[in-house]
Amino acid sequence: MTNPFQLLGISDDVVNAVKDLGFETPTPIQEQSIPVLLEGTNDFVGLAQTGTGKTAAFGLPLLELIDFKVNKPQALILCPTRELCLQIANDLKNFSKNVANAHVVAVYGGANIMQQLREIRQGVQIVVATPGRMLDIIGRKAIDFSSVKYVVLDEADEMLNMGFQDDINDILSTTPDDKKTWLFSATMPAEVRRIAKKYMNEPVELTMGTKNTGNVNIEHEYYIVRARDKYAALKRIVDFNPEIFAVVFCKTKLDTQDVAEHLIKDGYNADALHGDLSQQQRDKVMQRFRERNMQLLIATDVAARGIDVSGVTHVINYSLPDEIESYTHRSGRTGRAGKTGISICIINSKEVGKIRQLERIIGKQFTKAELPTGFDVCEKQLFSLVHKVHNVEVNIEQIDQYIPRIMDEFKELSKEDVIKRFASLEFNRFLDYYSKAPDLNAAAGDDRGERGERAGRGRGSEGYTRLFINLGSVDEFTRGDMLSFICNNGKIGGKSVGKIDLKGVFSFFEVEDAVADTVFEGFKSVEFNGRQVRIEKSGDGGREGGGERRGGGERRSGGFGGERKSGGGGGYRGGSGGGERRSSGGSGRREGGSREGGTSGGGFRDFSGRSRDEKGGNTGGSGRREGGSREGGSGERRKKW
Ligand code: AMP
Repeated sequence: MTNPFQLLGISDDVVNAVKDLGFETPTPIQEQSIPVLLEGTNDFVGLAQTGTGKTAAFGLPLLELIDFKVNKPQALILCPTRELCLQIANDLKNFSKNVANAHVVAVYGGANIMQQLREIRQGVQIVVATPGRMLDIIGRKAIDFSSVKYVVLDEADEMLNMGFQDDINDILSTTPDDKKTWLFSATMPAEVRRIAKKYMNEPVELTMGTKNTGNVNIEHEYYIVRARDKYAALKRIVDFNPEIFAVVFCKTKLDTQDVAEHLIKDGYNADALHGDLSQQQRDKVMQRFRERNMQLLIATDVAARGIDVSGVTHVINYSLPDEIESYTHRSGRTGRAGKTGISICIINSKEVGKIRQLERIIGKQFTKAELPTGFDVCEKQLFSLVHKVHNVEVNIEQIDQYIPRIMDEFKELSKEDVIKRFASLEFNRFLDYYSKAPDLNAAAGDDRGERGERAGRGRGSEGYTRLFINLGSVDEFTRGDMLSFICNNGKIGGKSVGKIDLKGVFSFFEVEDAVADTVFEGFKSVEFNGRQVRIEKSGDGGREGGGERRGGGERRSGGFGGERKSGGGGGYRGGSGGGERRSSGGSGRREGGSREGGTSGGGFRDFSGRSRDEKGGNTGGSGRREGGSREGGSGERRKKW
C-alpha cells in the first residue's frame, strides 16, 4: 500500500524517516500545504495553530526542494524563540536522517556562538534561527545567504509581537530577491497581513479552520472565583486531576515565580519558566517538564511560546492574557498531535465578558465549570491512590525480606480491616481538610470578592457573621430543617439568620453579628445523632491555603495543602529534587517533605539583582530580545480586550 506521504510527493527516504517518528497519515495542514509548497514556485501564507503539524508541513517540502549536494545555505527558517528554534531544527534533523549530506543548524541566542559558527563553516543547507543571533552572525560576515531559495517565517505573529520586525527586515535584505517566502502564523493581525504584503508576491493562502480558530481537540472551560480565591482554585483544580500535566500561564514573571514558589511550598511538583531565569535554568526546567519529572510548569506567555511537549493535559490560564490573541497560543500547548486537551480559565466575575469575546474570536463555546467541592477532591484523590496501589509494580526482591514482619504486624486484622485502615490513612486527613474547605465558586456578575456575598448578607458584609456547622445534606437536613435547628439551638429568631449554604457533610450559615455569641453559646453542647455538633466562624479556619497564605504563613498541619508536602498520591510528585527522577512515579513520597535545593538548578534568581536581560522585560519595550527571553513583548501592537 502506498504511504499517504508518498502520495503527496514526498520521497522514500523522508517517508521512512517520518514513519519512524510514528507519522502514519498527514495532518490536515500537511495534506493541504505539502503539494502547494512542493512546487517551490510560490510565496505562501499558512494560517494555522501550533501543534497541527506545521513543521513537517513546510519541512518535508523543503527537504525535497533543497540540493543537498551543495553545501550552502538554501533555506532559512526564522522563528521567535530558542525553544522553538531547537524544536524545528531537531524535527528537520529527524525528517532528513536518511538524506545523504543533509545539514541543519540551529542558531539562537543564549548559547555558545563559536559552536554555531563552526557548524556553519562546515557547510549547512538549512539554517533555523532566532532573529537576534542570526543578525549577529550576519554582522560577523560569517554566513553567505546568496544561495537562499526559501525563507520560512514561523510564528510570524509572535516574532512581530516580540519586536523582531526590524531584525527580520535586515536579515531578509541579505537574501536574494527571487527567493520564496513562506509565512506561518497562528493568528492574522493586521501587522502580519502587512508583512505578507511587503515581502510576498501574490502568496498562496491557506487557512486551516477559520482565522484564529482554536484547535478542535481542545475543550475550553472557565471557573469564576473571587480574586482572593484564585490560588486555592488552582490547587483545587490540580487536586481534582491527580494525573494532570499542565502549563499554568501567568501574566508577569513575578506572578509566575510567586505561584510556582507557593505550589512548591505546598508540596506540588511545579516550577517556573520565565525570562528572568538564565538560559541554563530554563533548559533545566524544560528538560524536567519534557521528561515528566515535573507536573506543573508555571510560565509566562513568551517563555512558553512554541513549546511542543506532548501529552500536556491542561493549559490553565491563571490570569487571562493581556492580548486576546495570546490565548490561542496558550491553549495550543495542549491538544497537540491529535490528542485532546482542556484549556481552563480561572477568572473573576467581571471577566465573563472577556470569555464571550474569546468565544467569538476562536469560534468555540466555553463551558462554565464549577470547582469541585472538597469532598469531590478527596474522593478523587482517594481512588487515584487506590488505583495506584492496585497497579503498582511490586519489587519482590526488595520487599520480600520485610513481609514476615509486616504480616506479623497485621496478624490480628482481616483483609478488609487492613484495606479500611490503609484507605483511612489518606481519607481521614482529606476529610479533615474537606470539612473546612469552602465553596470557591463565585457567581457571574457577583462582586462578592469586594462587597460581600449577597447584598448585606455575606462574609465581610456589614452586620452578619458567617458560620460553619458540621452538619449538612448527608444528615438529611433541608434548608428549612437547618433554619429551625439553628433557631432552636442558637436561641434566636428566624429573622436573625441570613443565607444558609447547605453542603454535603457541612454547611455555612449567617447570623446577625449581634446574636453570634448567643448562637455559639447555644451550640456549646448540642449533639445530633450521637455526634457533637461543632460550629466555627468561617473564614478563619475554613479557608483553603489561598490568598492569605501567600504572605508565606505555613498552613497548619492536617490541612490538605500542608499534607501534600509528604506526598498525597500525585503521580509526578516526589521526583523533583534537582531534576532527579525517583523511580516509582507512584505516590511519590518525599523524604521529610524537603525540597531544598530542588527546583531549578541552584534555586531561583533574586529579582533584585537584575541584569541587562531584565531591563524592559515587563515593559514591552522595543529592544531586540533573543531566544524567548523577552517577556511582555510590544503589547501596543496587539489587540487588547
Ligand atoms: P508541530 O505543529 O509541527 O509543532 O507538530 C506538533 C506535533 O505533532 C509534534 O509533536 C509532531 O511530532 C507531531 N506531528 C506532526 N505531524 C504529524 C503526523 N502526520 N502524524 C503524527 N504526529 C505528527
